[in-house]
Amino acid sequence: MPLFEDTQEERDFRLVLKKFIAKEMTPYREEWDKNRAVPREAWKKIGRQGFLCTWLPEEYGGAGLNFRYSVIIGQELIRGDAMGIGVPNHSEVAVPYIYSFGSEELKERLLPKTTTGEAIACICVTEPNAGSDAAAIRTKAVKDGDYYILNGQKTFITNGTFADIMVVVCKAESPDDPSSKKISIIVVEGDSLKYVKRRQLEKMGRHATDTSEIFFEDCPVPVGNLLGKEGEGFKYTMQELGRERLEVCIKCQAYAEECLKEAINYAKIREAFGKPIGNFEHISFELAQMATDVEIGRTFLHTCVEEFIMGEDITMKVSMAKAWLAEMANRVAYKAVQIHGGYGYMAEYRICRLYQDVRVLPIFAGTTEIMNIIIARKLGFKPIF
Ligand SMILES: Cc1cc2nc3c(=O)[nH]c(=O)nc-3n(C[C@H](O)[C@H](O)[C@H](O)COP(=O)(O)OP(=O)(O)OC[C@H]3O[C@@H](n4cnc5c(N)ncnc54)[C@H](O)[C@@H]3O)c2cc1C
Repeated sequence: MPLFEDTQEERDFRLVLKKFIAKEMTPYREEWDKNRAVPREAWKKIGRQGFLCTWLPEEYGGAGLNFRYSVIIGQELIRGDAMGIGVPNHSEVAVPYIYSFGSEELKERLLPKTTTGEAIACICVTEPNAGSDAAAIRTKAVKDGDYYILNGQKTFITNGTFADIMVVVCKAESPDDPSSKKISIIVVEGDSLKYVKRRQLEKMGRHATDTSEIFFEDCPVPVGNLLGKEGEGFKYTMQELGRERLEVCIKCQAYAEECLKEAINYAKIREAFGKPIGNFEHISFELAQMATDVEIGRTFLHTCVEEFIMGEDITMKVSMAKAWLAEMANRVAYKAVQIHGGYGYMAEYRICRLYQDVRVLPIFAGTTEIMNIIIARKLGFKPIF
């Protein structure tokens, strides 16, 4: 079920990617899940094939491809059970900050490594006491000569355990005036990483993806690693959030499609009371509603992707899409497990893993509640905090 009618080039790209995933990723899913890690070599392999940061211009090691290719990658990783590798977070969330706001020196030094898999990137916004309320972050960067000294704690950071490049949202504080705390973004990498401690977290699903708590302890970061200007960080995150949320929408849709597929296949082969369960009216109607949900999601996502590629402001639409698609994927996954009966609860069944994976979709990259606040504001209301 393609989101778009692929062009010939996109079809070729998808086919090569599919084959790569089937050979180099799908067979290792169980091992990676068990180890709670994807080996570095897998990142390098996917990088060598040119599937990391495909959108980056050629001068930085990318292929200069448009966002439709990012959609194809997001879809195929889920279809091939290879979502354990945190490619979308790396390629579509963390690296775009460096490309959009980094100095030329930083871009030339770091971006090529992000396309080869030599360097894994993560984005560090969330803190133990600042999730939805991102403005409440406390991680601070105090300027000391040619360095910022970074102190603070981040949590729930995807790719956090193995990241070589951390895009960190913090408050830059002037030593002369500690009251002036300006939200800023700095890139922690190279020798600075010696001052970073990490603790990998156990999750409900997505076991192969490393998610970590991160501690910065008097971590010196060269001033040249500041992205853009001090104090402009909040504006930059607002600018990049649309893409991040769109990337989650792609996941939601792909997961919902896979859950539907599993449910339809199972309803055709599982028999009860002497006939395939899909022939019971209730189950066939459930499947009909799930298929309708998935079709609506596909149309909505298509519109958002098209508008994003055309450079339109998708803030409101992508908030609606993130809220609706994440809940839809969960609705479809829930029903798909139900249709599988007890087998749906068994870890060896694919639907069980899909169900575990989808639960986080309405939570990360802005919860459904926060999406509704954004939409309500755009409608002219002022939800009370
Ligand atoms: C697997 C996973 C991966 C993640 N990856 C990253 C990452 O790579 N980088 C990163 O920075 N973060 C990451 N996150 C963090 C994620 O973005 C946050 O968990 C999310 O923003 C919610 O913040 P919180 O968990 O602190 O919940 P809280 O903000 O404490 O919210 C708790 C509940 O209260 C609700 N709530 C909060 N404020 C309001 C309000 N004003 N009105 C109504 N309801 C409200 C929320 O919707 C939620 O239901 C990840 C999280 C998970 C689980």
